[in-house]
Amino acid sequence: MVYDDQNIFAKIIKGDVSCVKVLENEFILAFMDVMPQAPGHTLVIPKCKTTNLLDLPEEYFPHLMGATQKIAKSIKKVYSPAGVMVLQLNGSEAGQTVFHLHFHIIQRRGGLNYKFHSSGVKSSLELKKERDKIIKNL
Ligand code: 5GP
Repeated sequence: MVYDDQNIFAKIIKGDVSCVKVLENEFILAFMDVMPQAPGHTLVIPKCKTTNLLDLPEEYFPHLMGATQKIAKSIKKVYSPAGVMVLQLNGSEAGQTVFHLHFHIIQRRGGLNYKFHSSGVKSSLELKKERDKIIKNL
């Protein structure tokens, strides 16, 4: 699939669209999902033009997985969930809706209702509250 420079995550990387940042370095950016499936729902993306995991240049793997693990550990500490789900979808048939590679990190516990996508948009203020808890534990 051809990478679309106008996708929403490309705009976030460029700074044309705002996000609530969790972690950033020259290879990756992690930020709060604007429609979280649970408090703390974070996305980690590579800073390269990659639609999905199958196209990711090798040098990005350690940075992407390292950041994902770091954030998953923080989410575990902050929310003490029963589990932490790392979700990554490749292609529309797999449920992918934004065609820039991303990993979802989502806490899981009984009583929370999980779908592939949530429809409720949270305010920056609400997202920042959860973000601050996560970055304190990175
Ligand atoms: P996918 O279905 O492609 O795996 O997930 C895309 C994710 O991106 C969804 O969980 C959705 O809530 C999130 N998302 C879509 N647009 C935006 C946005 O503009 N900002 C942020 N922070 N997340 C977004």
